[in-house]
Amino acid sequence: MENYDIIVAGGGMAGALAATAAARKGAKVLMLDRNDSSEVGKKTNWGWVCGDAVAKSHIDLIEKELKIKLSEPVLDIRVDGVQVLSPDMKNRFPFEGEGFSLDRPKAAKFFAAEAQKAGVEYRPHYEVEGPIVEDNKVVGIYGRDEKGEQVKIRAKLVIDALGVASTIRRKLPKNDYIENTVSTDDIESTGRYIAHFEQNGEDENYYDPKNALIHLNQVLAPGGYGWVFPKKGNRINIGIGVEKKSLDVRNAKLGKTDTLHTLIDQYVKWNPLIKSITIDETDKNGKGYWSVTVRRQFDSLVFPGYMGAGDSMAMPNPISAGGIGPAMVAGVLAGQVAGDAINEGNTSMEFLWNYNVRYNNTYGNKTAALEAFRVYLQSLNNDLINYGMSHFLTKKEAEDISYGRIPEITIASTFTKVLSGLSNIEAFKNLVFTVKKMKRMNELYGKYPDLAGFKAWKDIVNKEMREVKEKFPPAPV
Ligand SMILES: Cc1cc2nc3c(=O)[nH]c(=O)nc-3n(C[C@H](O)[C@H](O)[C@H](O)COP(=O)(O)OP(=O)(O)OC[C@H]3O[C@@H](n4cnc5c(N)ncnc54)[C@H](O)[C@@H]3O)c2cc1C
Repeated sequence: MENYDIIVAGGGMAGALAATAAARKGAKVLMLDRNDSSEVGKKTNWGWVCGDAVAKSHIDLIEKELKIKLSEPVLDIRVDGVQVLSPDMKNRFPFEGEGFSLDRPKAAKFFAAEAQKAGVEYRPHYEVEGPIVEDNKVVGIYGRDEKGEQVKIRAKLVIDALGVASTIRRKLPKNDYIENTVSTDDIESTGRYIAHFEQNGEDENYYDPKNALIHLNQVLAPGGYGWVFPKKGNRINIGIGVEKKSLDVRNAKLGKTDTLHTLIDQYVKWNPLIKSITIDETDKNGKGYWSVTVRRQFDSLVFPGYMGAGDSMAMPNPISAGGIGPAMVAGVLAGQVAGDAINEGNTSMEFLWNYNVRYNNTYGNKTAALEAFRVYLQSLNNDLINYGMSHFLTKKEAEDISYGRIPEITIASTFTKVLSGLSNIEAFKNLVFTVKKMKRMNELYGKYPDLAGFKAWKDIVNKEMREVKEKFPPAPV
């Protein structure tokens, strides 16, 4: 059987950067992906399905940690930031700051080439089927090669970067560290088109060449949102995400049978600035549908012999569903810690725990609070979101929340903001409750535990989040 220091399963954003970071430390790394080399990182048969937007801060981290400089054409277009619009289009809140739209197929090829430059052995056409587990430790993977023959490969460490449907994570032995599955309540079904479009007039709330726009609207995109992100050459990346329960509630109340597919087409038609669209078939990446998680990352990202990075660990931001940045950050950190573990001859859980701590301190410590806020948001109908965006939160407070900073919102300090209406007052009280829980979550993740304290800490986190979820069932209309 073949034998490596590290197997990186999946050649997407997380995988290619993890492989690069580990190889730069001198480890013997094998990176596997099911696609042909010309289509590395392609998530599904539909292509590199993504909104393509990524914050500059994440690109900067790659440059700082790996000295990899991104430029055109990988960076397709620069934007000033993300703007979130209320359903009535009267309020526009900034979110996440300066960023870029990536050309995903080109980005994936670029990162895979960087990995190979760093000495990574890259094997396409390999379908990963599951982990090889001995004595409750991952010691390799099994899967099928191009000819459909089963091939087993051993390694001291396996990094799982297979994305949201990971066949490794799902087949880990039941354990206290990493769940095998993600609840459907924490998953958005999403779809998007990359398209040329004919523009009908000017209105920066519907298409803004300098900003990525997010439209909150519980009728058009129940439990999620719609987006119009600019791309070079008079093109847009346009799509929606919906949460299943919210969609069911919305359809039942409105007597409709809409699906993700019908809703995307309605969203395109709803936009008065888009006269017509023509799907951009470059790289066969024009139209696609896939899932994205909107919960905090798994509370531990490691298991004996195993580390996870990116969508396999539910890393996308719970509010924006932005997962490129977290996948890149996690890839770099997982690869660095794995490389150190090989060099020191210590692949114990205690050593791998450094990755949990570093990811938590770099990005992960804010996501539980954001998950709580996302659950609250899904419990509001359009009227309440409109009202809340004009009365409950200032632009500064909303922006702070998007960065994981929790504003001071109490009934007493903000009473004058709430004008009238029982449901509004209830919604405001619920916001105050949510903000308290968000603070609590930030406190808990501010004291991320060591290996010995993990189980007790996780029980507290789960209890706090359960309370939020029980209080706020989805109510889109
Ligand atoms: C519609 C949509 C819009 C989105 N918009 C945005 C956005 O605007 N901004 C943002 O930041 N994030 C966005 N995201 C999320 C973002 O795309 C992901 O977070 C990101 O791709 C995660 O990268 P990854 O490397 O973890 O996984 P992936 O990109 O899923 O890569 C996994 C790789 O592993 C391969 N693979 C999977 N299973 C196997 C197997 N069994 N054997 C071999 N190979 C396998 C895949 O083919 C792929 O190459 C969006 C997601 C969707 C679905």
